[in-house]
Amino acid sequence: MPDSYSLLILPGDGIGPEVMAEVVKVIDWFQANRGMSFDVTHDLVGGSAYDAHGVPLTDETMAKAQAADAVLLGAVGGPKYDVLDFAVKPERGLLRLRKEMDLFANLRPAQCFDALADFSSLKREVVAGLDILIVRELTSGVYFGQPRGIHDDDNNPENEGGRVGINTQRYTSGEIRRVARSAFEMARRRRGKVCSMEKANVMESGILWREEVQWVHDNEYPDVELTHMYADNGLMQLVRQPRQFDVILTDNLFGDLLSDAAAMLTGSLGMLPSASLGAPMANGRPKALYEPVHGSAPDIAGQGKANPIACILSFAMALRYSFDQGDAAAELERAVERVLAEGVRTADLMGPEGGSPVSTAGMGDRIVAALAAGA
Ligand code: NAD
Repeated sequence: MPDSYSLLILPGDGIGPEVMAEVVKVIDWFQANRGMSFDVTHDLVGGSAYDAHGVPLTDETMAKAQAADAVLLGAVGGPKYDVLDFAVKPERGLLRLRKEMDLFANLRPAQCFDALADFSSLKREVVAGLDILIVRELTSGVYFGQPRGIHDDDNNPENEGGRVGINTQRYTSGEIRRVARSAFEMARRRRGKVCSMEKANVMESGILWREEVQWVHDNEYPDVELTHMYADNGLMQLVRQPRQFDVILTDNLFGDLLSDAAAMLTGSLGMLPSASLGAPMANGRPKALYEPVHGSAPDIAGQGKANPIACILSFAMALRYSFDQGDAAAELERAVERVLAEGVRTADLMGPEGGSPVSTAGMGDRIVAALAAGA
């Protein structure tokens, strides 16, 4: 283990600073009790950066993000900033981070804690104990491919309406190989299985995808179990029998659909972490940005109602995937599980039967207490 890991914390706007304050308690606990050392820097992103500097991300903050072992972000945005020019909107800060760090692999775990299985849209027995990870290619594919656009279809008199809309699904072998490596690396830290999804039955880009993923497997990760599935069947399997999967690897378009569907398996938005990874740095670890899936929740900001678990689980992902501290990550996840099993709930996790919710800080304190009690 290195002397210390560098971690850039960007709380952002709305509930971002509230949930991040609870992550800081967790980081402090690991430093005090597990011999870890984090070189933590705090900075601004989004609306808070705009208020201070007139831009949603300064060049100095960008440089710090490029140099950090990991970046942890809360959330950006809010109604106050809706009137700003597009170029300085809070979301531009986040997009700049993703683009300049070249974060091509988006990781979305779908983990269903037993105590929350009734929040899922599926039956308890199908989702209880679920723990899968979707690795989605994020910087290429049909959302970026050229040519694209809406054109007049002048030479086609039979086209009622006279226009044509075009998008292009385009992948290079290099783009497929690098995201495949990310998925195989994740699988090695988990249960050692990757299922790659495409539409090789009807798309040439799908055939290339399948061949390149297989090539990376055979040449570099033969120890990982690799299967292939057509993406339509994959989505069906995801809602039929989701626990059959460990890591799902897929492209930008199919990943968009699969990861949103997987999110519904687990219930609340306040529970969903994510990570975006780029190429390995000189130290061998990938560039990485960890963030909850939710936004800045202006409707509850400043009221102590936000659920900090998505942000705390994002830090658990950083422990596992950036800092090689899988045991500590599992310890933190067990602490979350234990607190939920004890019936501790923030307002978003209250069922129709009601009860008295804990505050954001109350949830953070209970998770730290569970760590201390040896979760
Ligand atoms: P949102 O995720 O902020 O909120 C949707 C709903 O979920 C709200 O009712 C909110 O109260 C609730 N919610 C979200 N996170 C919660 C948590 N941790 N605990 C309890 N309840 C939670 O999405 P929105 O309302 O569509 O967007 C609000 C702002 O956030 C907008 O400015 C949007 O652009 C921005 N946004 C930012 C990100 C990001 O930073 N990655 C993502 C999505 C939206």
